[in-house]
Amino acid sequence: MAPMLVDSHCHLDFPELQADLPGVLERMRANGVTHALTISTTLETFPAVRGVARSQPNLWCSAGVHPDERRDGREATLDELLAIAGDAKVVAIGETGLDYYRVEGDTEWQRSRFRTHIRAARRCRKPLVIHTRSSAEDTVKLMREEGADEVGGVMHCFTETWEVAEAAMALGFHISFSGIVTFKNARDLKEVARRVPLERMLVETDSPYLAPVPHRGKPNQPAFVRHVAEEIAALRGIAFGEVAAATTENFFRLFRDARPA
Ligand SMILES: [Zn+2]
Ligand SMILES: [Zn+2]
Repeated sequence: MAPMLVDSHCHLDFPELQADLPGVLERMRANGVTHALTISTTLETFPAVRGVARSQPNLWCSAGVHPDERRDGREATLDELLAIAGDAKVVAIGETGLDYYRVEGDTEWQRSRFRTHIRAARRCRKPLVIHTRSSAEDTVKLMREEGADEVGGVMHCFTETWEVAEAAMALGFHISFSGIVTFKNARDLKEVARRVPLERMLVETDSPYLAPVPHRGKPNQPAFVRHVAEEIAALRGIAFGEVAAATTENFFRLFRDARPA
């Protein structure tokens, strides 16, 4: 039997994947990807995310608002986050964090939103799914200030330096690698993937984005998380099954409300 793999971060409610969900699930099965965590990005789309998770015993979801989602109106309140996080299918808070890459001008609203998510995670005692881009220093600073270590979580689609990985791991966080680790020019990231202890590692697709080699440039899907795990095994000179077993065990230890089905 093929080793089990879990895609710890995908967006099954996005049109590219939603349009052919039965096919997406079938290709997961065919590739030994037995479970997936589908990630919330807005309050408005949360019911759709939860709907996908409820449709299958091997899917779970998160609750949160992505840092790139500029809301000109009102921000999600702590109570609103807690209300949606209470669902049995919700095993994490996020994706949250900071992203200074796309935003111009004042970024205080992003930090405020991130703080609210960390507070929600601590209240409902669910781990955090953290996104960080061009903002690693502030991301780690806020994690420390808000006591994110109390719940832990994952630095998803990790592309930062070893020092940032170390700082996050010191706060009890896991490091999740995406298809980016398969890209030829990702030399520094490959080095980080060699050094992160196996017991702190997760794998993900962030699909429909970031398809790994050999599917680069095409729409991504959870089945392709296999290529991420294969690359990490090759980089570390260990068996694919060892990466699969470790990352699967880590997933169920971290997201403890997810029960393998
Ligand atoms: Zn992200
Ligand atoms: Zn994402």
